[in-house]
Amino acid sequence: MRIDAISIFPEYLAALDLSLIGKARTAGLVHLEVHDLREFTHDRHRTVDDSPTGGGAGMVMKPEPWGEALDAVLSRGAVEGAGEPMLIVPSPSGERFTQAMAHQLAERSWLVFACGRYEGIDERVMVDAESRIPVRRVSLGDYVLNGGEVAVLAIVEAVARLVPGVVGNADSLVEESHEGGLLEYPVYTKPPAWRELAVPEVLLSGHHGRIERWRRDERLRRTAQRRPDLIQELDVDGLDRADIATLAAAGWHVVENGATSGGASPPRFLAGPASVAD
Ligand code: SAM
Repeated sequence: MRIDAISIFPEYLAALDLSLIGKARTAGLVHLEVHDLREFTHDRHRTVDDSPTGGGAGMVMKPEPWGEALDAVLSRGAVEGAGEPMLIVPSPSGERFTQAMAHQLAERSWLVFACGRYEGIDERVMVDAESRIPVRRVSLGDYVLNGGEVAVLAIVEAVARLVPGVVGNADSLVEESHEGGLLEYPVYTKPPAWRELAVPEVLLSGHHGRIERWRRDERLRRTAQRRPDLIQELDVDGLDRADIATLAAAGWHVVENGATSGGASPPRFLAGPASVAD
């Protein structure tokens, strides 16, 4: 996978030299280039911002350096055979970044990130890019950061670890939080007792079936407790009897919606403690 990131603080992205992503770069699994937006300015002060048209507080990133930077990055990647690019623009007004989106982005051969600062980038930069390549405005969450660099660090880390070979043991990706719509079960290591706290006995049993069931139940309980919104989205048809019993103990029950007609089996959904109380 090739990744280009454009920023006025390229040094902010130096963290991508470290750890698994750094190793993936060294191994040639991820090719990452960071570009300084100010290299695409032509005035003495290397200006990248100006006052908002129509008035208002703050400054807006000028379209000219962004246009030049994107043209240069896109034509260089094309010459180097990077494949089909997608532009990712971190923005608090974008679609929310999720594990599902990380999987979609990991399928791409080439991602280009545009890090905004100030009040953001002149909208015409994205409109112009959209006339040539797919563009996604992506939000890390419902809060406002000072710049897109933190978002790029998070998105690149989440996406690159899904690229085959980046995480040594691919099995460790399967049961993680947000895979299969559930949070991960609690994890433990040695020693079996620490500060009078014991590891759950089942994990020492060596009984793979019981361990697997316990972990599945913990995922369901933990998700019901911390993220009821995720339980509501579960596909009931993907749950077995033990899952349904565990969820029932946590206050979630399968409800049949008898509204369908024509012999099709009625849709089923999970109703939780709040919906029961309603
Ligand atoms: N005026 C913008 C608004 O209200 O939508 C906020 C601009 S913010 C101060 C500057 C830059 O930080 C944005 O252009 C974006 O690149 C980045 N940013 C801020 N919050 C973000 C978030 N939740 N997710 C992704 N990027 C964010």
